[in-house]
Amino acid sequence: MYKDLLAENDDLNNEEDGRSKKSSYYESWMKTAFDKAQEALSKGEVPVGCVIVYNDEIIASGRNTVNETKNATRHAEINALDALFEYCNIKHLSYEDLLKDCSLYVTVEPCIMCIEALGNLKLGKLIFGCSNDRFGGCGSVVDRHLEYRYMEIVKDIQKEKAIELLKRFYKGENPNAPTCKKKTN
Ligand SMILES: [Zn+2]
Repeated sequence: MYKDLLAENDDLNNEEDGRSKKSSYYESWMKTAFDKAQEALSKGEVPVGCVIVYNDEIIASGRNTVNETKNATRHAEINALDALFEYCNIKHLSYEDLLKDCSLYVTVEPCIMCIEALGNLKLGKLIFGCSNDRFGGCGSVVDRHLEYRYMEIVKDIQKEKAIELLKRFYKGENPNAPTCKKKTN
């Protein structure tokens, strides 16, 4: 029991400082998702990046390309799924078999469209950074996860970093956004 309490406290502490072994593990994969998000930002896209991990290896990745393609469905997760389908084609693997053992890391909570796609494809595990208060499908707007209970979900992994990137995008994109003008007197 004391051990359980310790473990519980440990979990709580870890949740707070994000330094548990598990968090570090998630963060190591999330790093590449952030690289993709950064790439999106540099191309004038909403900075969201995503990687799909199978057997401790990144087998697919994607970033937002909505503006570039003028296609509102080209979210990071959808692009990563397309990359995964290609990977499966080349390797002659079934994506249905593969996805249940895959972890998908994305810097922002998947929207309703993406969580439906991931749920229907029976993704095994989803790890995301910050919440998506406008379109989130994992609890923020609706909770489609209730429908897809087999999918394990971990949230708030480096959420501050994800929020910071989004802020940079929205500040930069909107010419009417307030600049840091200092009053001279
Ligand atoms: Zn989406």
